[in-house]
Amino acid sequence: MVVQETKSFLATGTGPATYDAIVIGAGVSGIYQLYRLRELGLRTLVFEAGSDVGGTWYWNRYPGARFDSESWSYGYSFSEDVLREWEWPEHFAAQPDTLRYLNFVAEKFDLKRDMQFNARVASARFDDGSDCWTITLESGERATASFLVTALGPLSAHTMPNIPGVGSFDGPAFHTARWPREPLSLEGKRVGIIGTGATAIQTIQTIAKEVCHLTVFQRNPNWAAPLNNSRISPEEQTRIKASYSQIFERCRETATCFIHDPDPRKTLDVPPDKREAFWEKLYSEPGFGIWVGNFKDILINEEANALVSAFMAKKIRQRVKDPGVADKLIPKNHGFGTRRLPLESGYYEVYNRDNVLLVDINETPINRIESRGVRCSDQLHEFDILIYATGFDGVTGPYDRIDIRGPEDRSLKEDWKKLPRTFLGMLVEGFPNMFMILGPHTARGNIPRNIEEIVDWQTQLIKHMRERGFSRVEPRAEAVDRWVDAVNKACEGLLFSQIDSWQTGINKNVEGRQVRRVLGYYGGAVKYRNISQKVAAGGYREFLFG
Ligand code: NAP
Repeated sequence: MVVQETKSFLATGTGPATYDAIVIGAGVSGIYQLYRLRELGLRTLVFEAGSDVGGTWYWNRYPGARFDSESWSYGYSFSEDVLREWEWPEHFAAQPDTLRYLNFVAEKFDLKRDMQFNARVASARFDDGSDCWTITLESGERATASFLVTALGPLSAHTMPNIPGVGSFDGPAFHTARWPREPLSLEGKRVGIIGTGATAIQTIQTIAKEVCHLTVFQRNPNWAAPLNNSRISPEEQTRIKASYSQIFERCRETATCFIHDPDPRKTLDVPPDKREAFWEKLYSEPGFGIWVGNFKDILINEEANALVSAFMAKKIRQRVKDPGVADKLIPKNHGFGTRRLPLESGYYEVYNRDNVLLVDINETPINRIESRGVRCSDQLHEFDILIYATGFDGVTGPYDRIDIRGPEDRSLKEDWKKLPRTFLGMLVEGFPNMFMILGPHTARGNIPRNIEEIVDWQTQLIKHMRERGFSRVEPRAEAVDRWVDAVNKACEGLLFSQIDSWQTGINKNVEGRQVRRVLGYYGGAVKYRNISQKVAAGGYREFLFG
């Protein structure tokens, strides 16, 4: 991969450079947003903190990082050429392939010429007089633009654990989202990893065979189901390419934009033997079918959820030889599917290996990180390498890290301290001309499908403004009230909303993030699309233009 040189588009000494639009982030969202804005004829610049494109796939280079979505349902759908030319090697592609794909798209459309890398945005201020945003980088460089598009990614603000002594370990230590770009050999090393979420599961199952010894520090286990990945054969490749329009049509029909849709039956209406056979089938199939293609009530009915959880617990017991270890790996604080489901490939079998130790930190809490390793209440675990797979300050965290100010110095961070308020998750009252891709309150599932729809919708709104000579847009307060209400209602009765996770706004390592919040629209992607399309078709009456 070619490493991008750090070029600056920003004039120095002559005042800030001026653009029609500035996009923050060159991940899946930012790449596509630049493509669309350029098509509209807007002078657009993308600021990206990394040294190249890729966003989440640029930063998360930890061993084993790969899709949980079917590759061929994840890629962009907007270009026939890209669909024809690109070949996914596996049904669930690994991170290097995804990064290669995003580079391929960015280079194919010559998008990198309008991207400034190594450019972390520190602040964004709206000027009431000119209806423009001024963006300031951490380097002090500045640029102004009429439109600000935040393509920050919901999981870009990684968080270190609030354990005393973090930073005092003598050997290499890093968060999975900051895995080094240089090759790192784990062979023969004693490695410790803190966390057992989706990221940790992928890392653990990949490195266990390579390291001399691996110690996993677990606070709460997560339910995980087999990914059942495989390579794409030449015949499958041909079939996939011939059926892209049906694949994307299928994704448009489902609530999560995955190819999987819930089974219309209720769990308790199905006889136990048939239920079991259905779950066995789902367990042996690739992807998220067992989560979002399961009986329609497993995520809303406690009894149904308990039954499917018991099935999953049985599977863990079958796969892990030591019953005590198996019991530790079975979640007790949440039912199956009520947190974002990690998919695994041999994760449970890792605990049958002699070189892997599971430490339940509820039994022996971590007291501190020391220069030689992790000090628990009973012993010091010594390591050569320490990995923090401790997650992210989800959805609002990336916004909190930029000082975003609307007219009269209104601070977005202050406004959102308790709860974010948005219209369709895309615009915010009091912050004119600021657009969000995958901000709080949008539908989320198979992310690129959501992204393409949001980018297209926002681009249409900008087009609408330019055709009418408007220089300013923001949602009406009453439209925001109604949307926040709809977001809250859509969450009622969902079991996941009663569980702590990044999806409900919890991050125990971040001050002020201990109270659950609704951060997504859970009425489903179809409903979300219908609502937003109705707003556009109605002439954007929910907005104030100027
Ligand atoms: P996560 O699900 O939030 O997991 C973080 C882990 O770190 C949890 O096990 C957590 O324990 C633990 N932890 C955090 N602070 C700790 C502390 N102070 N002491 C001990 N343990 C601590 O984060 P993630 O695994 O990075 O996954 C986040 C999301 O990224 C996923 O849900 C998914 O949406 C996405 N992701 C996607 C893919 C993919 O598409 N293939 C892969 C990886 C991740 P508790 O549970 O007890 O808090």
